[in-house]
Amino acid sequence: MRRGLVVGNWKMHGSKASVAELVTGLKRLTSHADADLAVCPPYVFIPSVVDGLAATDITVGAQNVSDQAEGAFTGEVSAGMLAEFGCRYVIVGHSERRTLFADSDKLVAAKFVAAQQVGLTPILCVGESLAQREAGETLTLVEEQLLAVIDSAGIQALSKAVVAYEPIWAIGTGKTASPEQAQQVHAHIRQVVAKASSTVAAGLQILYGGSVKADNAAELFANQDIDGALVGGASLQIEDFAAIYNAAG
Ligand code: PEP
Repeated sequence: MRRGLVVGNWKMHGSKASVAELVTGLKRLTSHADADLAVCPPYVFIPSVVDGLAATDITVGAQNVSDQAEGAFTGEVSAGMLAEFGCRYVIVGHSERRTLFADSDKLVAAKFVAAQQVGLTPILCVGESLAQREAGETLTLVEEQLLAVIDSAGIQALSKAVVAYEPIWAIGTGKTASPEQAQQVHAHIRQVVAKASSTVAAGLQILYGGSVKADNAAELFANQDIDGALVGGASLQIEDFAAIYNAAG
């Protein structure tokens, strides 16, 4: 039985004051026995969020990581640094990184490997654009993004990772994939992994991301291959984020 997981991606939002308020709200949440909660703040807020949530079961992740261990890479942050500052997760391959910062499948795979080398759990994002969906390319594209990581890290690496299916057309747009559309892609992801290892496939947490809200979370989570959510906008509103977490618990 897979545990539920809800992860908040705060993107480049927040101030000292708003982050302190969010942490206060998160500390008041009641944890569920069968679902976990994590938040991914911008880098600079990670230490205060880790400290603020230390007495809770809520874990912290980063939104990106360098594929390099250290060196002259101005502006980058290594996986080792994230681990030292108390991160448990790191998002790799978010579509905003892929489209705005040209993170290729190869670079995403290298970031995935760098994260695992220091014990971080990568949250690998995959997903298609609207044009790719309309061209019927969704399943092939998602499979290619997944195989790029499996080819480089090996199938067992997925036993210590999370996959997030995030259709680009649903991110921050208010358009959510229907539960049937999401379930179809999640099932495909699990089948692709199962071809290499049925054990890894059975244990893999696959999250859905794309305009998940308090009022659509439960119908998404009711599907057998949807194990939780990666939540952008709604993770900045504590009541909404709490309701999504409650739907997963
Ligand atoms: C995201 O950024 O990963 C995301 C899913 O955003 P939103 O929930 O705002 O669509």
